[in-house]
Amino acid sequence: MKLNGIKTVVGYKCPFCGGTVTGPDGALSLSGDMFTLRCGCRDKKDEIPLRIEKKGGVYCFTVPCFICGETHKYSVSSENDFGGTVVMNCPMTGLGIGFAGSRDDVESSARETDVSFRAAVEDAGFETPESFFEARSAYEESRSALSPEEITSLNFLVKSLIPEGAIQCFCGVCTEPEMNCDGDDAVLKCPICGATARIPLRILSDPYRLAEIDEINMK
Ligand SMILES: [Zn+2]
Ligand SMILES: [Zn+2]
Ligand SMILES: [Zn+2]
Repeated sequence: MKLNGIKTVVGYKCPFCGGTVTGPDGALSLSGDMFTLRCGCRDKKDEIPLRIEKKGGVYCFTVPCFICGETHKYSVSSENDFGGTVVMNCPMTGLGIGFAGSRDDVESSARETDVSFRAAVEDAGFETPESFFEARSAYEESRSALSPEEITSLNFLVKSLIPEGAIQCFCGVCTEPEMNCDGDDAVLKCPICGATARIPLRILSDPYRLAEIDEINMK
């Protein structure tokens, strides 16, 4: 079976609801160098899609991790015949988070992850996987707000760079990113492809360092 075969299915575990998301049969056999897959459980602006970029004969997967919250990258040759399924593991936990193969193989690998994940979260003191996801989104909501000052200066920066064509994105289309924050960074996110750029929050309150930013590249 080849990755770009007409029966190959790609899937991943949604980092927000924990559900298994699968794409159509043969998604990678279609023309085009970029492919994204979304769960649909959230507003489009909150969602982090699975992204696959084709570079030469290699598919580069960027998989949002439903376990550790990071995104993990994998490269798989499109010409490589593989037996069974490609399982992309979270390097922190070793559990499968992204899958490619026949639909049956993808679904059964995802079920194996579900079983291991349930055991892992119960070990950690959560009643169910659902209670783990609820606790995580409550935590994320509590820390994901920019202050009005930060919003203002970020908006100022973005609006000054757009006319110069100095905001670039992975998808080549987005020019007006959404703004949010994550930890100590402001995060600019493309509403089309989900690519991001980070700017440390302390720079936002330092107009001299802010003025030194002459381009933003979301990837
Ligand atoms: Zn979801
Ligand atoms: Zn992970
Ligand atoms: Zn984009």
